[in-house]
Amino acid sequence: MNLDRYRPENLRRPSNGMINIHPIQRGGILTDEARRIINEWADGYSVCDLCFEGRVDLIRNPPIEEFKRDVAEFLNMDDVRFTAGARHAKFVIMAGYAGGSVVLDSLAHYTSYIAAELNGLKVFEVPNSGYPEFKIHPEGYAETFERIKEETGSYPSLALLTHVDYRYGNVADAKEIGKVCRDYGVPLILNTAYSSGIMEIDGKGMYVDFIVGSGHKSWAATAPIGILATNFENTDKIFRKSKLRGDWSGRAFTKKEVAFFGCSPVYGLPVMTLMASFPAVVKRVKEWDKEIEKARWFVREMEKIEGVQLIGERPKAHTLMHFETPTFHMIAKRHKKRGYFLYHELKKRGIVGIHPGMTKNFKINVYGLSWEELEKVANAFKEIAEEHGVEVED
Ligand SMILES: *Cc1c(COP(=O)(O)O)cnc(C)c1O
Repeated sequence: MNLDRYRPENLRRPSNGMINIHPIQRGGILTDEARRIINEWADGYSVCDLCFEGRVDLIRNPPIEEFKRDVAEFLNMDDVRFTAGARHAKFVIMAGYAGGSVVLDSLAHYTSYIAAELNGLKVFEVPNSGYPEFKIHPEGYAETFERIKEETGSYPSLALLTHVDYRYGNVADAKEIGKVCRDYGVPLILNTAYSSGIMEIDGKGMYVDFIVGSGHKSWAATAPIGILATNFENTDKIFRKSKLRGDWSGRAFTKKEVAFFGCSPVYGLPVMTLMASFPAVVKRVKEWDKEIEKARWFVREMEKIEGVQLIGERPKAHTLMHFETPTFHMIAKRHKKRGYFLYHELKKRGIVGIHPGMTKNFKINVYGLSWEELEKVANAFKEIAEEHGVEVED
C-alpha cells in the first residue's frame, strides 16, 4: 500500500483555478457563504449535536426545520425532505407506487429508469420529436396514457417529466404537461435537477405533485444532497412512518420515516452548505434572464465556427447546450493527439469540462460564467478552430 498518494499535497484538484464548463459543474459551485462554514461543519454527524427528535429534518439548531419550510415555500409546495440526491428522491417517490407503472419522457436521466426498476415499476416512454430539436410535447403524455390504457386496461400510476434534460438542455413545458396529468388523475414528478436552484420554480402553478431537485447540481451545495418536495395530499404516502415492532423486544420507531432510512442520509456538510447558499440561491433564480442572454450570445459566437451547430430547441432557453462539431471531428482525424486534441487545447487555455476524446459533438454549460470568462471560452474555441484551418466568421 502506498499511503503517500493520499497525502493532502497529492490530493490537489486538477481543475483548480480553471474555468469548468462541464454541464454538471456550474450550478454546484459553492457560494462564498457556504465556503465560510465548511470547516466548522465538516466533522461527521456535525448537525446532530442538538438533535432531540431523532430526525435531521426536525433539528432546530442549526435551523433545519425552518429551512425545510422555506425550501417548500421557495418551490411553492407544502412539504420538503432532504435526500441523498435527485435520484434518491425519485426512488423514495416511486417506492410509494411500487409494482405499478410510470410514464417517463424519452429524454429522462438514467436515474429515473433505475429508480423505476428498483421499485418494480413498468416503464413507458413519451416519444420526442427527434433531430434536431428533440422536443417533448404535452400531447405526447396524453397519447402515451391512452396507449397504456389500451395495452393494460388502466392508466399509469405515475408520470415523470424531466424539466430540463441533460442532453440538449431543452426546457419542457411543465405547466401544460402538468395540466394533462391532472386531467387524467396521474400524479406527476417534475425532475428539476437542472432547473430548481438556478431557475424559478412554481410547483403548484405547474400542477405537479412532486418536485425532485439536486443540491450538488443546481443549489450550490456539497454532494450528496437532493430535495424532495410534495403537497399535503401525498405526505402520508411518501413520508410514511415506521409501523414495525420487534417481535421479541417490542421495540418500535414510530417517528422514523421509512423511505428516508428513518432519518435522512444527509447530515453534516451537505445540508449545511445547502442552507448557507440558500439566500444566494433565492436571489440568483431571479437573474435567470441574464443567464439566457449570455447563453444565446455564446451560441451565436460558436456558430461562427464553420460546421458548428447547436442542436436541441431554438432559441436556447437554458445554459446547458449541445453542439454538433463535424469540423472539430475532421481535425481530430488527422491530429496526432486524435480526439484528445480539443481537450488538450482547451486545457492549455485554462478551460476544463469537455469530455476527453469527444470532438464529434459536445455539451457545455455556461451558467454563472462572467462575461469575461464567457468571452475567454468562446475565443478559445474560435482560436483552436482557426489554428487548425477552420473558417471562423468575424
Ligand atoms: C444530474 C441529473 C440527475 C442526478 O442528480 P443527483 O442529484 O446526482 O441524483 C437526475 N436527473 C437529471 C435530469 C440530471 O440531470
